[in-house]
Amino acid sequence: MTSPRKKYIIANWKMNFTPGQSSIYLQRLANRIPAQRSIQIVLAPTTVSLQPLSLQVDRRQFKLAAQNFYWRDYGAYTGETSVTQIRTFVDYALVGHSERRYVFNESEEDIAQKVAAAIRNGLTPILCIGETAVERKDGETAATIYRQLTNGLHEVSKEDISKVVIAYEPVWAISSNKNAKPAKPADLDEAVRLIRSHISKLYGKQIGEDISVLYGGSVNADTAGGYLDVEGVDGLLIGGASLIADSFCAIVETAKEKFNER
Ligand code: PEP
Repeated sequence: MTSPRKKYIIANWKMNFTPGQSSIYLQRLANRIPAQRSIQIVLAPTTVSLQPLSLQVDRRQFKLAAQNFYWRDYGAYTGETSVTQIRTFVDYALVGHSERRYVFNESEEDIAQKVAAAIRNGLTPILCIGETAVERKDGETAATIYRQLTNGLHEVSKEDISKVVIAYEPVWAISSNKNAKPAKPADLDEAVRLIRSHISKLYGKQIGEDISVLYGGSVNADTAGGYLDVEGVDGLLIGGASLIADSFCAIVETAKEKFNER
């Protein structure tokens, strides 16, 4: 049976590609990936590419996401870009990515404010959560997931929670990590259940069932299918493999097959 939850394949290009290269790469993907009815494909280029790509992209084919923004609307915040400045370029925004949390020391309060700012400005926040290797080793996976959800969503009302997408990205599985180790599908089975049960506790059972939950961490064309087979996984957030057109297109093909089977 097809789940009513929205399905996603999200490409996080991180700090790669100049605006010119982004434009060429977008065109390459556009030539190879037809508009999907059952899957929302979202591309997250670096901030400086958002404006030109927003003029180029066919939003029926791909939506754009911000990788980062500051949560205040305007003011004396040198070097920052507010969500109000980019909201017309994008439909989605990554929030709480582990590279923001651990490389740039973004706090859980910053993350909560960003989730709220995205919603206030009509964007869908993709809230990334996940435990570090140490938290996992110490048996704190569930506690970390609960804490990051509770804190990250504390400004989000019951009316607005349906506007949020959750991405489970265990930090130890993300390819930018020195000792990255791909997760096993069984690892995410447990995590996705914990996420849904905690969202149910915060917002009610139905919302826990209805919210889209994605997986991210070293996904490639060979492993995507195994992750998409895990019950309750509604798509993938892809870093490294999204920078290679063949890999990304193969992942989209796999997702199409898997979601059509459900
Ligand atoms: C990410 O950074 O969100 C990610 C999942 O990266 P990678 O696929 O390269 O592990």
